[in-house]
Amino acid sequence: STGLMQGKRGLIMGVANNRSIAWGIAKACVDQGAEIALTYQGEAFRKRVEPLATELGAFIAGDCDVTDAASLDAVFDNVEKKWGKIDFLVHAIAFSDKDELDGRYVDTTHQNFLRTMDISVFSFTTIAKRAEKLMTEGGALLTLTYYGAEKVMPHYNVMGVAKAALEASVRYLAVDLGSKAIRVNAISAGPIKTLAASGIGDFRYILKWNEYNAPLKRVVSIEEVGDSALYLLSDLSRGVTGEVHHVDAGYHAIGMKAVDAPDI
Ligand code: NAD
Repeated sequence: STGLMQGKRGLIMGVANNRSIAWGIAKACVDQGAEIALTYQGEAFRKRVEPLATELGAFIAGDCDVTDAASLDAVFDNVEKKWGKIDFLVHAIAFSDKDELDGRYVDTTHQNFLRTMDISVFSFTTIAKRAEKLMTEGGALLTLTYYGAEKVMPHYNVMGVAKAALEASVRYLAVDLGSKAIRVNAISAGPIKTLAASGIGDFRYILKWNEYNAPLKRVVSIEEVGDSALYLLSDLSRGVTGEVHHVDAGYHAIGMKAVDAPDI
């Protein structure tokens, strides 16, 4: 076959169900010839992820909660035993207390601030460190971010602060790992109705607002994010690192929004 990802093996972290952005990326990678491994977070998600893994012929690398270093070690041990090395890794993981994805950022609690940063930012750095050891012939790391890192978006609050730190991490990691031919990039996806997004206040309104104001006059799908991820994970982007690539129907390019969304 002539798939873009033929001969490449990668670990994709963050599939919760068939609406997950990580699932859109997983499908695109396998469609282009990649072999993939998936993780799941806790027993409740195992039941959802197992049939999805079967559908793609993916290997399940294990139960992984990024706040538990031992579970991360076990996942990377499993991948190393199975393949010895990997070519790419996708980090599609974020978390914040739902109660703080509403109201004012200034009211964020110390405890949730630390937890949000730990799960949504530090996890990418510690995963990159583990991936480095397995990317013996170079590789590509990809994380997922959102426009709320750059500009204030309603209700995004502490997650916006975390995504800003995540995007800075992409640049620092790109420098640290560049000499090993490991590239580090992010996709800034437009709003998509996923499990994680359902925690964000007024999410339906945010979707409508994007639909009315994005240059393409619509929102994006997980399949579209998956196709763009192929570029950043494959050799097509071999000259690209430290980049935040927007897949948002062009929303980020607009300064003055022209049309208000109708009441919903
Ligand atoms: P999702 O709910 O399908 O995926 C979130 C994943 O994070 C889940 O698989 C969950 O298990 C995992 N996760 C949370 N806490 C974890 C922990 N402690 N350990 C291990 N895994 C943990 O939602 P999604 O929207 O596909 O989110 C994927 C990524 O995309 C996130 O980083 C999110 O911020 C980002 N993103 C989402 C949107 C959107 O509108 N949906 C837009 C831009 C960026």
